[in-house]
Amino acid sequence: MPLPRVAIGALGGTIAMVSGKSGGVEPELSAEQLTRSVPGISGLATIHAETLAKLPSGSLSFKVLFDALDWANNQIDKGAKAVILTQGTDTLEESAFLLSLYWQKPQPLIITGAMRAPMAAGADGPANLLSSLLVAIDEQSVGRSAMVVMNDEIHSAYFVRKSHSLKVETFKSGLVGPLGVIVEAKPVFFHSIDRRPKPLSLPKTLDKKVALVEACLSSGGDHLELVFSSGIYQGVVVAGFGSGHVSFEEADIIKNYAGTLPVIVATRAYSGPTSERTYGYKGSEIDLMKGGVLMGGWLSPLKARLLLWALLSAGHDKEKIEKEWGHWQIGETVKTV
Ligand code: ASP
Repeated sequence: MPLPRVAIGALGGTIAMVSGKSGGVEPELSAEQLTRSVPGISGLATIHAETLAKLPSGSLSFKVLFDALDWANNQIDKGAKAVILTQGTDTLEESAFLLSLYWQKPQPLIITGAMRAPMAAGADGPANLLSSLLVAIDEQSVGRSAMVVMNDEIHSAYFVRKSHSLKVETFKSGLVGPLGVIVEAKPVFFHSIDRRPKPLSLPKTLDKKVALVEACLSSGGDHLELVFSSGIYQGVVVAGFGSGHVSFEEADIIKNYAGTLPVIVATRAYSGPTSERTYGYKGSEIDLMKGGVLMGGWLSPLKARLLLWALLSAGHDKEKIEKEWGHWQIGETVKTV
C-alpha cells in the first residue's frame, strides 16, 4: 500500500528556533529541517514540507494565515490526506480558531508547535510533529476540521487555550477537556465530531478592524470611549468581568454605541461561558443585551474578536451578524436567530 501523502507547512515559532545573534532563540529552521528531526516519520507518510514563513507567532498576520490556508487547500486538492501547520504557540489558539472558521475540507488541518526550542533538553517539537502526523493519517480524524495537537493531546480549535507561558503542558480546553489523546502511537478520541456551522466564505477584505478591550477594576471608561469614538474599529469586543459584565461607566458607553456597530461582551475569566439571564444590574448581561450587545458565550475574548472580524470581513452588516452570531455558540448562551 502506498503511504499517505501529508503536507507540512512551517510558519516559524519556537519549534523552528535556533540560537541567534541576540543571545536568544529566533525562528530559522525550514519545514524540511523540522521534518528531518522527527524519528520514524518517513515510514508513516510521504511528506511534502514547505516553509511558508519564519515568524514569531505574535507577528503572524491575517495575510500570512490566509496565504497558509490557500496553500493548505491546494495541498489537499493535489492529493494530501491532511495538512499540518507548525507555528509559535503564543497565538496558536487564535490561528487554529481562525482557520477552523474557513476550513471546508473533510481532511484534517492540524496546527502544532513547541514550547522548547530544538536544541533544548527535552525539546517537544519532534514529538508534537510526530503526534500531529499520527492524527493526520488516522481515519477518525476525517471531518473534524482544524485541531491543535500538542503534548500528546488533541484539542478542538474552539476551546483550546494556552494556559501557561512556558510549560510544555500548556494547551488546555477547560472543562470540556481534550478531544482525544495519542497513546502508543494511536489517536484515541473521547468526543464525537462537533456539530459545526457551515464554514464562512473567504473574507472580502483583510482591512476590517475589531478592538479588544479588557474590563479592569476601577478603570473608568476613558479608553473604551477612545476606542469607540476613534472611528477606527468596525466592531468591539469587551473581555468583561465574570459571566460578561462591565462597570456602570462602561455600560453607558457601550449602550451609546451598540446601536451603530456590533459589540460583543465575553468573559475575561479563564473558562466558562457568559450568562444571559442571571444578573440584572446596570452593566450586567441582561442590561447589556437589552442595550444591543451580543454575549461571547463559550468563546474566549480572543476568539470572539476573530469571529466578529470574520463576520464583518464576509461583508455582513450588524443585523446579519446578530443573526449569525448564535450559530457559532454552544447551547443557548446567546441570543440566537
Ligand atoms: N514566542 C514563541 C512564538 O509564539 C513561542 C512559541 O513558539 O512557543 O513564536
